[in-house]
Amino acid sequence: MQTCFSPAALADPHMAASEKILRTCVHCGFCTATCPTYLLLGDELDSPRGRIYLIKDMLEGGKPATTEVVRHVDRCLSCLSCMTTCPSGVHYMHLVDHARAHIESTYSRGFADRLLRSVLANVLPHPGRFRLALAAALLAKPFRFLFAALPVVGARLDAMIDLAPSRFPSLPLAEAPPVVAAPRKGRVAILEGCAQPVLKPSINAAARRLLARHGVETVTPRGEGCCGALVHHMGREEEALDFARRNIEAWCEEIDRGLDAILVTASGCGTTIKDYGHMLRDDPAWAGKAARVSERAKDITEYVVDLGPLPATRGTGQVIAYHSACSMQHGQKIGDQPKRLLRAAGFVVKDPPEGHVCCGSAGVYNILQPEIARQLRERKAANIEKTRPLAIAAGNIGCITQIGKATEIPIVHTVELLDWAAGGPLPEELEGTGFAS
Ligand code: SF4
Ligand code: SF4
Repeated sequence: MQTCFSPAALADPHMAASEKILRTCVHCGFCTATCPTYLLLGDELDSPRGRIYLIKDMLEGGKPATTEVVRHVDRCLSCLSCMTTCPSGVHYMHLVDHARAHIESTYSRGFADRLLRSVLANVLPHPGRFRLALAAALLAKPFRFLFAALPVVGARLDAMIDLAPSRFPSLPLAEAPPVVAAPRKGRVAILEGCAQPVLKPSINAAARRLLARHGVETVTPRGEGCCGALVHHMGREEEALDFARRNIEAWCEEIDRGLDAILVTASGCGTTIKDYGHMLRDDPAWAGKAARVSERAKDITEYVVDLGPLPATRGTGQVIAYHSACSMQHGQKIGDQPKRLLRAAGFVVKDPPEGHVCCGSAGVYNILQPEIARQLRERKAANIEKTRPLAIAAGNIGCITQIGKATEIPIVHTVELLDWAAGGPLPEELEGTGFAS
């Protein structure tokens, strides 16, 4: 694609990087076929190619974002399906990240929108505040219809309340660290993060048990927390970088003590942590450390698959539908490792139709764009149900929460199934469903 940025504009390294991305697009339109919003809305401006044109026009002219640009960029899920499809290697993720930051700094949203975004950005990344917010959402559930009737933000408040679990998430029990089998094969950090330990602490507990059986010690460095993805996807760049720096500081101390990998059990977070090196590339004080962290970041299935299978201790053979999160398949290009692990543990793994299409979770997208997210969720659940599984496995808490709202089939994290198959406890979602406790 031809561009015409001024030399002054290109002096900004962010602008220069975006111009390079724009020039790789040959407008072939292959990406439109796999874009979930184009699939639903059929509008070129809600396709990757259409958004690329809008972003080009905005950045090239050094213009503030217009309402039209904001509408179509806001509707993008950042699912990155377009990156998987694109034959020219257009790095849409970095381009849309830049566009979102530009929107945040040049566009004035309405009061209600600003307030909602500010609440999300200041609550979700902080486990204590998030726990309180979930309690409030639970109390609000019987009055959902009143919130839904509010002008402007009603649908979004309704979506937020709907996403809250039907019972208050239990406080994580202080479990003794699992005994690491000899010989010790490694030492890894495992990201606790923000929302996942509140919504489902059982995921990382299962991950620790599984790793311990393999002879891998896990540590959770003091000071780590939210990876920054939630605010990053809202264009709040400086806040995202602050979260990144805090984690990098915590992990670099452990890397110096000897760390084989930084493992992530939420693929949405993994995509962002693997990008820390890029996000902080222009910060001389942090670029090197950020790159060290990104090099070591791995999804847990990427790491465990190289450890080989564990001896089976349970009667497996159950049919499992594997849902590959967009951040897993498109963001991190992790394809069959989770399925190989599940098959090696004895499960019969099915791939649902339209596996490349997003479930509509996408960070806080399901709150900010509830109607599109609802349609994608229902489409995803219907496709999964076609495989007639006993349970669904996924590697991202956002998808687990989102899909779990649209189907009666229990959905758990991949490592929970692997842990159970190797002798761990039965995930509570699977009680009474044909899995032995
Ligand atoms: S597939 Fe790639 S090159 Fe073609 S229009 Fe989409 S982004 Fe541009
Ligand atoms: S990231 Fe997803 S929603 Fe956004 S343009 Fe690409 S395919 Fe479409």
